[in-house]
This record gives sequence, C-alpha cells and structure tokens, in this order.
Amino acid sequence: MSAPAVATGYGGRLTVDLGALKRNWQALDKVSRGALTGAVVKADAYGTGIAQSSKAFYEAGARFFFAATPDEGIAVRAALPDDSHIFILNGLYPGSAPLYVGERLMPCLASIPMLEEWLKACLARSQALPAALHFDTGINRLGFRLNEAATVKRMIEQVGYAPQMIMSHLACADVPQHEKNRTQLALFASVMSQFPNVPASLSNSAGLMTNRDNHFQMVRPGIALYGGRAVPSRRNPMAPVVTLEAPILMVKEVKTGEAVGYGALQTMHRDSRIAIVGIGYADGFFRSLSSADNHRGTSVVIGGVPCPVVGRVSMDMIGVDVTDLPQLPAPGAMAEIIGRTVTVDDHADVAGTIGYEVLTSLKGRYVRQYVESVGPATA
Ligand SMILES: *Cc1c(COP(=O)(O)O)cnc(C)c1O
Repeated sequence: MSAPAVATGYGGRLTVDLGALKRNWQALDKVSRGALTGAVVKADAYGTGIAQSSKAFYEAGARFFFAATPDEGIAVRAALPDDSHIFILNGLYPGSAPLYVGERLMPCLASIPMLEEWLKACLARSQALPAALHFDTGINRLGFRLNEAATVKRMIEQVGYAPQMIMSHLACADVPQHEKNRTQLALFASVMSQFPNVPASLSNSAGLMTNRDNHFQMVRPGIALYGGRAVPSRRNPMAPVVTLEAPILMVKEVKTGEAVGYGALQTMHRDSRIAIVGIGYADGFFRSLSSADNHRGTSVVIGGVPCPVVGRVSMDMIGVDVTDLPQLPAPGAMAEIIGRTVTVDDHADVAGTIGYEVLTSLKGRYVRQYVESVGPATA
C-alpha cells in the first residue's frame, strides 16, 4: 500500500495562521526600524508552506526573501510578484548560474569558486547580476574567510562588479551575553569598512531582537516569524503561528500493573484510560517525547487539559493518559499536539531539541489548512 495522493483529513491537521505570520513580520519590522526586514523562508518556510507563507509576508510588506536552495527560490519566485528579491543562502551550486539568472535568484556567494563562477556568468552576459557576499566572522560554516576579503575585493574590482549586499551570520545570537556576539560584530564592521557603501546584513531573529547595533541595512529573521522562541532566556513575544491536532482513534482501559507501548517501558499504577492518538514519529512527533517509568515525556491537550503521553511514541500513534479527564474523549475528537498550551518550544524542550527542528519536522501525513486571524501586534 502506498500513501494516498490526497490527504483525506483523517490524519493530523496542521493549521497555519497567516494573520499571525503577518503580525510577527510587522512587529519585527518595527523593532528593526531603519533596516529592511527580510523573511527567511527556507525549509518550506519552517514547515508552514513556502508559497503560502511567502505570500503572507509579501502582503505584510516584505520584499526580500531568503531561501536555502535554488529549488526553494524557484518556489518563492513562482508564488510572488516580480518586485520580490530572493537570496539563496546556500550560495551558488556548481553549474547552476544559468538557473539563478533565469529565475532571478541572488546567491549569497560564500567561497572563491562561487565568486569566480558568478563573475564569469556576469562577463558572459555583460551584466552585473545581483548577488550577496557572505563573510564568515566566526561561525566557521558558509562564507569567505576574513583573510580572503582583499582577494574578493580585487576580483570584483577587476571586472567593476558591485555586490548587492555583504552579510555574515552570528553563531551565538540566542545567548545575548555571549562574548562571541561582540567579536563577530567587530569583525563584521571591519569587513564593512572594506566594502563601503554596500548594504550590510548580520542578524537572524535573535540578533535583531537583542541588539540594535546588529541591524545595519537588512535583517533576516526566520524562527521568530513562525512564532518560535529565538532567545531562550527571555519571554517569547511572538504570536503563535502553528496549531497541530491529531485524532483520537480509541480509548483503551489499562489495568494496574499493565504496561503501554513498545518495550513495555511504562507501567500503570492505577486502572487507567489511555487515549490512542493517531500521530507518531513518522509525523514529526519525536520518539524522544516518549514517557517511561523513570522518565516523564511530553503532554498533549485533550478537552483543554494537558494529558501526559504514556510509554513509547510509535511510528503512527501515541498513548495518552486521559484517566483524570472529567469526560472521556470520543473517538474522532482531536487532541491538540502543538498550540498555545503546549507550544513548539515546550515540545522541543522535552525532546532535547529546538523549536526549529520541531517545526521543520512537521510534514508527512497532515492536512495543512490556512486561517487568517486578526489580532493585536505583539513584540
Ligand atoms: C536560517 C538563517 C537565518 C534565520 O535564522 P533564525 O534564527 O531562524 O532567525 C538568518 N541567516 C542565515 C544565514 C540563516 O541560515
């Protein structure tokens, strides 16, 4: 049996609030007044749907979009009006310059070979094709090394090329007091002085929310747009965007002394009622959210009440203790897996990961639906 081509609605239901997305973008745009506010839409817009979410940001006012790959860039290009500008964070893939040119994608050039290939494409077309220069100020991931700045400068001056933007990425912005933030900011300033009059961009969500000095001409928020917590040590001011629900398949009576799920890892200490809910690790409900006798897992919300997961998370289902609910839930009723009560970050904390991973794992067998709430701006 293969998966059905069209979800019928019997699986989980992922609701994305486009109104919240727009308010989050506008709130961050206000915080970074003076800089342009981009929208990072990589990884299917953090699991929310790249076309729908990009459109929402555009409607909110965004004109600069950051995707990771050219495929994502093409999806954004197809979804948005012509006056949107799309950067490809992963840079230029070898041999892909014609694709970028055709789709009007701007690579964040991160290495000398990438720059060589792009300048070659510019010369071949006698056109200064727009691109960003990505400098590595200490994360040691993508980006030119700082001692390559002079070479980069020489290469672009030789052909009279002016980049659209210079950028760098912070390694520790989620820890505002981290020493590395100051080091990277200083190193980025030194790069900027070598490329005067070129717009500059340094900040992800946390960078823009924690220090005005990081804003420069463009900010690049991702996680905060999607309601995620960018700075763990602070209250999260963003509006929640994603609600995930899954259906209760049946309610099972489990007697004292019996165990629930694979491995028989959790034994019931009273006669219990266990709701079997149709969501599992194949749906991004991580196995690390499991419960055992010696380890408390996560909770999901049934009838408005957080109820603990019991035993191991299976591929397609979980057990949830509903013994204490005043009213037994009926099969077909929905359990809220992620929402306002148990947030993306609550799940992430229990699973030992981050909200980014929770959000970007929400694919698979859901029906995705879009709503547009109205509400006050947050942040
Ligand atoms: C993912 C990414 C961002 C956005 O980061 P958030 O922490 O989600 O705000 C910004 N810049 C670069 C280079 C990225 O890779």
